[in-house]
Amino acid sequence: MVREKETTQHPIEIPALLTVKQLADLLGVSGVDVIKQLMRNGVMASINQSIDYDTAAIVAADFGFEAVEKPPEQLAAGGEIEEQELYPRPPVVTVMGHIDHGKTRLLDAIRQTNVIATEAGGITQHIGAYQVEVNGRKITFLDTPGHEAFTAMRARGAKATDVAVLVVAADDGVMPQTIEAIAHARAAGVPIVVALNKIDKPNANPELTKKQLAEQGLLIEEWGGDVVCVPVSAKRKQRIPELLENILIVAEMLELKANTYAPATGVVIEAGLDKTKGPLATILVKNGTLKPGDVVVVGDTWGKLKAMFNEKGKRVKEAPPATPVKILGLESVPQAGDTLSVVTSEREAKTLSQKRREKQQQSLSPLRAVSLEQLFAQIQEGKVKELNIILKTDVQGSIEPIKDFLEQLETEEIKVKVIHSGSGMATESDVLLALASKGIIIGFNTQTNPGAKRLAEMEGVDIRYYEVIYDLVDDVKKALKGMMAPTYVDVVEGHAEVRTIFPSDKFGRVAGVYISDGKMSRDALVKVIRQGKILHQSTLSSLKRFKENVKEVSAGFECGIGIEGFNQFEVGDIIEAYRKERAR
Ligand code: GDP
Repeated sequence: MVREKETTQHPIEIPALLTVKQLADLLGVSGVDVIKQLMRNGVMASINQSIDYDTAAIVAADFGFEAVEKPPEQLAAGGEIEEQELYPRPPVVTVMGHIDHGKTRLLDAIRQTNVIATEAGGITQHIGAYQVEVNGRKITFLDTPGHEAFTAMRARGAKATDVAVLVVAADDGVMPQTIEAIAHARAAGVPIVVALNKIDKPNANPELTKKQLAEQGLLIEEWGGDVVCVPVSAKRKQRIPELLENILIVAEMLELKANTYAPATGVVIEAGLDKTKGPLATILVKNGTLKPGDVVVVGDTWGKLKAMFNEKGKRVKEAPPATPVKILGLESVPQAGDTLSVVTSEREAKTLSQKRREKQQQSLSPLRAVSLEQLFAQIQEGKVKELNIILKTDVQGSIEPIKDFLEQLETEEIKVKVIHSGSGMATESDVLLALASKGIIIGFNTQTNPGAKRLAEMEGVDIRYYEVIYDLVDDVKKALKGMMAPTYVDVVEGHAEVRTIFPSDKFGRVAGVYISDGKMSRDALVKVIRQGKILHQSTLSSLKRFKENVKEVSAGFECGIGIEGFNQFEVGDIIEAYRKERAR
């Protein structure tokens, strides 16, 4: 049965001046479509920018509408008043995606085809970010591809990226790091533009890749979704301008604005020490305009800016919002993700940076991360409204059921959100995502890789391991109800290697060991480990150096030890000393 279609179209009334959004509403189409149509007609406008009747009428005609001008007396009172101090600023873009899908190549292709051509010559230098110009509009690209860098910055509180370009090789399709990148961009609330790369390859399969993206919830426009997808070839530099235009369109929707005249603030993209020039840092200006001579506080250091350089190594006199510049004149090297602010005097800068240093020293444990135990207190204080979970499982098949169980647990006060899931070990990238999203990691029948474990310990990210779904669900349930008993974690103090075994009257046998790292103290808890397996766990029954009872022996020394309830030592056994500490 065919439904009767409305055929009579009255001309629509368009006022002398209206915003893109108002026009979209009048036409019953999306803002993006209007922006695109305007671009095709050579007009760049953001969603809240005003356009005149003549321009609007052309767009209306493109959508098949006849337009008439609304008489002035009928103009709606008020209208949109632009905030006076704010001006549009360029978007900042990070390129993400699976390894070898062409992120670096794409960044190079964009740089080569579009670097602002005002100053000829000058060799492009890597300063961590660069700007390109498209139809008179600028885009800033962060030059360190990958979601790890992106999330590491975010974990430090710096939100630098406005739009994420997800590079997916059409010959390889959606891969684990593609999925990770999607999760990281989503957790940060950053819109994604898909660059479907390597379309020049004979085995490229764009359709399959699009299908795989849809399975990840990224529904592209062609398939009725709102995700922009541009097929490109970074190698052949094909369709790069189209990609850039689409980035601009997506950015328009974000209405990015900054105040050019405010005292500058910014974020450190990268930093290092130059043998002759001293500390150098690339700053992405977020607000205001940075100038040489400005006195700045950056993280816990400060400086009076001696000079600023762009990516061509050319001196610049000012850096407006979203511009990356390399700055010279800091007292010491800051860290990526540190924020910069301009202050009024060197004195203020010194005091402020000193204060920050002291604060940092006091807070040895960064409590930015949240553990499952702390969660309830934070829910009650109203600080946490969402429990963000990163779920890692042994097999892909476990993900969906566990996710369902977990998401059913949400209460009125708190949402339970699995922001990323995957099979395999928890990685550094997962830890960073947990840190940046104040989430926890749940490992189901899986482990954490050593690097990720170290990072999690350092940053206080809670990683919980379960083997039974019931335990997992129960813990989360208890945490949400504030019923969780404190848990304890093992903090390793040192390791010793068994080198010889002596008979002993008292213990039968004791071990002559060499402390390879850390220390052994008399009151430590110990584990006997043989070929990676824990054989026994208890306490020390004796600790001796040259027949003397001692309290502690440090790394690099030998000593004799006895262990409560265990004397079956073998040469090569590892004794791990640890203590229990209440988990944060
Ligand atoms: P990254 O790990 O994502 O940064 O990937 P790279 O940019 O290093 O690219 C990985 C490999 O894919 C390199 O050998 C590139 O030359 C190649 N590559 C990148 N883009 C394209 C493309 O559009 N077409 C083809 N055929 N190869 C590409």
